[in-house]
Amino acid sequence: MVEVQVHDMCGIVGVCSKDPCRNVARSVYYALYALQHRGQESAGISIYDGKIVRTEKAMGLVSEIFDNARINKLTGPTGIGHVRYSTTGESTITNSQPLLVRYKDGVIAIAHNGNLVNAGKLKEELEAMGRVFHTTSDTEVIVHLFMKELLSQQEPAEAVRAIMRKMVGAYSVVVLIGDTIIGFRDPLGIKPLCIGKTDTEMIVASESVAIDTLNGELIGDVKPGEMVMIKNGEIRYHQITHHQCPAHCVFEYIYFARPDSILDGKLVYEARIKIGANLADEYPSEADTVTPVPDSGITFAIGYHQRSDIKYCECLMKNRYIGRTFIMPGQEMRETAVRLKMNTIRPNIEGNRIILVDDSIVRGTTSRRIVDMLWRAGAKEVHVRIGSPPIVAPCYMGINMATREELIAAYKTVAGVEAVIGADSLGHISHEGLVDAIGIPKERLCMGCLTGVYPLEIPGEKCHLAQAKITEYIRE
Ligand code: AMP
Repeated sequence: MVEVQVHDMCGIVGVCSKDPCRNVARSVYYALYALQHRGQESAGISIYDGKIVRTEKAMGLVSEIFDNARINKLTGPTGIGHVRYSTTGESTITNSQPLLVRYKDGVIAIAHNGNLVNAGKLKEELEAMGRVFHTTSDTEVIVHLFMKELLSQQEPAEAVRAIMRKMVGAYSVVVLIGDTIIGFRDPLGIKPLCIGKTDTEMIVASESVAIDTLNGELIGDVKPGEMVMIKNGEIRYHQITHHQCPAHCVFEYIYFARPDSILDGKLVYEARIKIGANLADEYPSEADTVTPVPDSGITFAIGYHQRSDIKYCECLMKNRYIGRTFIMPGQEMRETAVRLKMNTIRPNIEGNRIILVDDSIVRGTTSRRIVDMLWRAGAKEVHVRIGSPPIVAPCYMGINMATREELIAAYKTVAGVEAVIGADSLGHISHEGLVDAIGIPKERLCMGCLTGVYPLEIPGEKCHLAQAKITEYIRE
């Protein structure tokens, strides 16, 4: 049987109270609610009460899993949480997180967002040493590596230092070890991780919206290659690696992160508005209405409308009780999901020339279906504008993007895709327009899915030389 390697595209959070008598379970729960968009497959919370770690996790949305009774089972001043993204790989409770491991001083809980490109090799090495794996997730590789180092190094900080030398890829991780939370981010800072505080708690989370939800203040990002240790509400920073050229995931700004999050100093909303404005400059069109694909296209469409002065109008209504299209595996289910998800507002469409704006085209299913809906509702013209350049290559860094064969832009020109989706015209933001809108130099972004050039060596793929430079390991 071929083993499916599961990628962990997720949201993570750790909360540590300054007061040992406080209970952080609800804070972790609220933070996970704020991070729900980063994963809808499963969710889990682990809390340390001073003696033991209690964990509650299950398949489904945060709201489905946690009721009062379940949250009340969790008490203690330190905890972590995780929401896991749906993938086409194994969708089972065994892969849900936090992952737990027993060691001499108790139980350690680990939650991870990202994808290790050398997970297979590391796993083989660990298996050769007699380690037994229970899941197919990269996170278990991190767990075993960490335990191995912890047993020989003793100090958790030294263990993290040692495993960061071995792990290659995208990883933002939170570890709950006794009354301490450790957060660390890969040397290229591919996946986001930030730190914040309230009057009573320190927080480390995938996105700043989790901190906002707890009425906290954003302190800043965990830097690429940095580890933070939080204990008794106090935080210590350790720069473990230094790399001249980080590679923040461009797709976080395009699609994955919430628009109200600040990632690496940039408000995602502002980047998306500017992408929309740049799109209007690059691909203007005579039209009566600019309309978004809800919700993913909204901010881009507002930017396009503001720059073009073409009326902004809702033409599509989303059923908000349906999860993201990709949750449903298999092409047939995905197409049904698009119809379940969206309906038209006919009077806003009939007889009008429409500019339809979305964030991205992956397989082409969504755009094709929605353009078809607009035609059926009587549109006179349909011009599609997309807030990302064509996605031409797979993601190896933790976004569930589809295989190269499934990516429509990997084998069709823009004109070819335009014909498939049935639009009068199709325009994608240029690479320059995108980079300008995000406001981070292109050398400091991972644009692998848009260029086929990656920040790390991946067999059979091209590598961005500036980013591939050897990481420097810093001794404190
Ligand atoms: P497709 O229908 O395959 O072309 O997918 C494009 C739609 O899926 C767009 O409306 C995006 O908002 C959304 N999308 C893009 N990337 C992802 C992803 N990695 N996971 C889930 N949905 C996505």
